[in-house]
Amino acid sequence: MKIDLIDLKKRSYDEKKELVDCFNKIIKKGSFVLTKEVSDFEKNIQNYTNNKYCLGLNSGTDALMMALWALGIKKGDEVITSPISFVASAGAIAHVGAKPVFVDVDNDLNIDVKLIERSITKKTKAIMPVHWTGKICKMTEILKIAKKYKLKIIEDSAQGMGSYYKNKHAGSFSDIAAFSAHPLKNLNAIGDAGFILTNKKTLYEKIKLYRNHGLKSRDNVHIFGVNSRLDSINAEILSYRLKKLKFIINKRRKNISLYRKYIKTNNIILPKEDIYNYDSYVMMVSKCKNRDKLQKFLQTKGIQTLIYYGTPLHLHKASKVLGYKKGDFPVAEKLCSEVLSFPHHQHLKPNEIKYISNCINKFYE
Ligand SMILES: *Cc1c(COP(=O)(O)O)cnc(C)c1O
Repeated sequence: MKIDLIDLKKRSYDEKKELVDCFNKIIKKGSFVLTKEVSDFEKNIQNYTNNKYCLGLNSGTDALMMALWALGIKKGDEVITSPISFVASAGAIAHVGAKPVFVDVDNDLNIDVKLIERSITKKTKAIMPVHWTGKICKMTEILKIAKKYKLKIIEDSAQGMGSYYKNKHAGSFSDIAAFSAHPLKNLNAIGDAGFILTNKKTLYEKIKLYRNHGLKSRDNVHIFGVNSRLDSINAEILSYRLKKLKFIINKRRKNISLYRKYIKTNNIILPKEDIYNYDSYVMMVSKCKNRDKLQKFLQTKGIQTLIYYGTPLHLHKASKVLGYKKGDFPVAEKLCSEVLSFPHHQHLKPNEIKYISNCINKFYE
């Protein structure tokens, strides 16, 4: 058997007709930028997540940068975030001139809320929790801290589409939330795309100007901005795929339940859901003893797995200027040596999950 971690080829094949329909619709119109398809997509997201304002952008990274920028985060400021993330979280903070301040994670791979307060200084302006793998952070606690110290919150909700915490959708807990629609996320474009959510009109209007060169109208520049517009073709595809999101997440959750049933070893800890959470499982990250050997073994059995990620953000070369060293965030560092993502996508068959589970059981025997 040969089992891929990523399902994108199968997905394109399945959706070929609908994707071609999207193309045809846009091509026929001959209009590709900031058309009705984009504002329709934004409305669809607003309805799905129950938030007031959405803006389609070029990428999740742009969404993070614009969120920080719109909140006035700048040089000399500090923003608290997690060392377990894709580099874009810390990178966006650095790009607006501020300093990413890492706080260690808990065993669920999300920021440890008990450790946040001790990292707050006079320069701290915001907290950027990362909803890693589509599990929303402990937002009640984070909101309490933010209120006490008058800090802004920017949710890195790049993986948050379809996730809930206390029955509220990701992105509902902060001043602005940044989402990615990169091909590897649950709601995915055919290329780069992202968006922000906010309930604050002033922030919405600021970013709306900024994403389109600060143009109030064709000949009326209010501020100097950038070009970070969501393409109409991707907006149309995302609106189509949004209708399938619930099904996809459900299927992935069922697949993980099957792993729970079939895996018979204590050497692996499968992802767990907390009582307040409904996780969307962008990745199925498990903690594995003897991780690297397990990965090699599974490779010989035709099973593709990936490590998200082997290096916490504070130990990358780019972080040198921040002054961190090995040992600063022991939980994050330990987890990075244990995490492994197994295939759990919606196209997997039960017998494939059984096969993978059996191989895992065999490895540890
Ligand atoms: C994917 C991702 C991003 C970046 O999103 P892009 O759309 O690729 O720019 C940021 N943060 C996290 C946690 C991500 O997973």
